[in-house]
Amino acid sequence: MVIVVGGGPAGSSTAFFLARHGIDVTILDRARFPRDKTCSEYLSPQASRILADMGALSAVEASGAAQLAGMQVHAPNGAMIHGEFASDHGFRGYSDRGLAVRRTILDAILLDRARNAGALVEEGVRVTDVTRDADGRVNGVMAIGPDGIAAERRADILIGADGLRSVIGRRLKLLRPAGWPRRIALVTHYRGVDGVRDFGEMHVERGGYCGVASVGNGLTNVAVVVPVSRAAEVAVDRTEFLEAWIAERPKLAEKFAHATRVGPVRATGPFASSARRAWAKGAALVGDAADFFDPFTGEGIYTALRGGELLASHVKRALVSTKESDRSLRDYDRARHKEFSGKWMVERLVGTAVAFPAIINRAANVLSGRRDMADLLVGVVGDFVPAREVLRPRYLLSLLLSPSARA
Ligand SMILES: Cc1cc2nc3c(=O)[nH]c(=O)nc-3n(C[C@H](O)[C@H](O)[C@H](O)COP(=O)(O)OP(=O)(O)OC[C@H]3O[C@@H](n4cnc5c(N)ncnc54)[C@H](O)[C@@H]3O)c2cc1C
Repeated sequence: MVIVVGGGPAGSSTAFFLARHGIDVTILDRARFPRDKTCSEYLSPQASRILADMGALSAVEASGAAQLAGMQVHAPNGAMIHGEFASDHGFRGYSDRGLAVRRTILDAILLDRARNAGALVEEGVRVTDVTRDADGRVNGVMAIGPDGIAAERRADILIGADGLRSVIGRRLKLLRPAGWPRRIALVTHYRGVDGVRDFGEMHVERGGYCGVASVGNGLTNVAVVVPVSRAAEVAVDRTEFLEAWIAERPKLAEKFAHATRVGPVRATGPFASSARRAWAKGAALVGDAADFFDPFTGEGIYTALRGGELLASHVKRALVSTKESDRSLRDYDRARHKEFSGKWMVERLVGTAVAFPAIINRAANVLSGRRDMADLLVGVVGDFVPAREVLRPRYLLSLLLSPSARA
């Protein structure tokens, strides 16, 4: 029996693939679905492969999800990087489009697919601790049910898919919050934002950045990300802060001139954290519980879905015996590193660059004149171009040394 704590993309995907292997699995989530999650709500083209495998793709598309052809990054100096998923660089994603869809819709569909595959789903159950046997091996959780009663729940393997600030990761002393960057995000939805088409837009400004993208059904997701040093101002009135931040920046203010906010402003952060390893005896972490850096390159949902797929194949082996369990979970951790380490490097380079206007201006000056390079980078962010393509010395030297398209 496997217990998965958290029914977001990581937990649903893990439980779906376990159930499909015929394994007895229960998801415990403190929320009741549909529930929201503070997110820019973009899915990379490669995420569609896993959605299709889970039988969720057609439902997500039918929900009115926006289809995105690529990304545009606006640098502080006005230069723009325009990259498309469909390109002639020789790599092709599962789809030529990324999807963008409300998390209230996406996560409910994914949880339903896990349930449909045979996973038991218990909502309104808050996990507070892990339990261990006499040898210190994890053997379950303490959880408070909808009736408010705390009870022990036994598991052969425990999966922590409980997102940022994971209780499982903390109780297992695996989490390592990052010293830098420490950013906070304010996310909401608008109608009537000008010029929003089939591209995800990132507007990098001095003092933060703002993501703008259609999420279908006439809604635009807007996420403003600023250093944690602004937290006290955000705490006074987060809605006023977000609206003022946009209004103070002429290009953004112009886009929002006729827009109406249609949802509350949600805040989250700081979010950068990673587990020193994603497993312990009898337990494993997946999704944000295991690693999250920064939303700029927005691929946490793909990592959560793919992480769940990877983990499920190892958990199947881990259930054979205690000895096999440690080996398989260690192998899962190695497989994660093999799969994601290149992407983590790109994420960290981009997430660092956006804090320094001179660097992002330079990159935008070069990439605005090199569609081939911009498409490669957007393909890496889209999870279908290997990260090594943009980590090669030739690519990095071109970024640093090429004459800029703009002075
Ligand atoms: C501002 C921002 C913008 C982002 N934009 C994007 C984007 O555009 N595209 C993208 O791919 N990624 C984006 N991300 C990242 C993305 O949101 C996450 O990577 C993704 O949600 C991870 O999924 P998960 O299943 O690991 O965690 P979550 O989606 O957070 O799910 C965790 C679940 O665990 C449950 N839970 C938590 N604690 C407990 C407990 N104690 N007991 C029981 N249940 C519990 C929660 O209720 C929740 O349902 C963004 C992140 C931020 C902060």
